[in-house]
Amino acid sequence: MAAEDRLRTYRGRRDFERTREPSGQEPRAGGDEPHFVVQIHDASRMHFDFRLQVDDVLKSWSVPKGPSTDPGDKRMAVPTEDHPLEYEEFEGVIPEGEYGGGTVIVWDNGTYEPLSHDRKGRPVDFAESLEHGHATFRLHGSKLRGEYALTRFRGDEGEQEAWLLVRKGPARSAGHGTPDPRRARSVRTGRTLAQVAAAGEE
Ligand code: MN
Repeated sequence: MAAEDRLRTYRGRRDFERTREPSGQEPRAGGDEPHFVVQIHDASRMHFDFRLQVDDVLKSWSVPKGPSTDPGDKRMAVPTEDHPLEYEEFEGVIPEGEYGGGTVIVWDNGTYEPLSHDRKGRPVDFAESLEHGHATFRLHGSKLRGEYALTRFRGDEGEQEAWLLVRKGPARSAGHGTPDPRRARSVRTGRTLAQVAAAGEE
């Protein structure tokens, strides 16, 4: 499917006269390695948005508690609409009353290595592995580093899909794996949500 079609839901939900989020009309040339980004979004409910570049869009999940660096934590991840590649740089305030109204910071970003393989250990196309509901990858971010898995556990028969985002590896002592969203700082600008909100529409 062309990015134009994949972004129809994204565009349909937004009024680009009112929000400064990218419309995705100016596709950027991708580098060799696919990108990932984790944004913190102080909307009606605080959540993290976890996005992986797959071809020419960002596949996206809303992760209420955020990714954990502790393999003992299983984090609920609910798929949201594909976003344009430019969205990885979006940080700012979405006006109240608009879709996703609230403040967004870029908490972490970087590249990832697809690691998905079949039961016999042969590599599998990453997009295909997501369609089948289980993908593994190694993140090379400023904050998140190492192997993670996304696994669909609900949503086969038309119900709302739900996935788990889990760090792979030996479990460690719990409790330190997740950032506090209100204290967390943007990897791009060093700002907190409150600082970005105060800067407003600038
Ligand atoms: Mn969001």
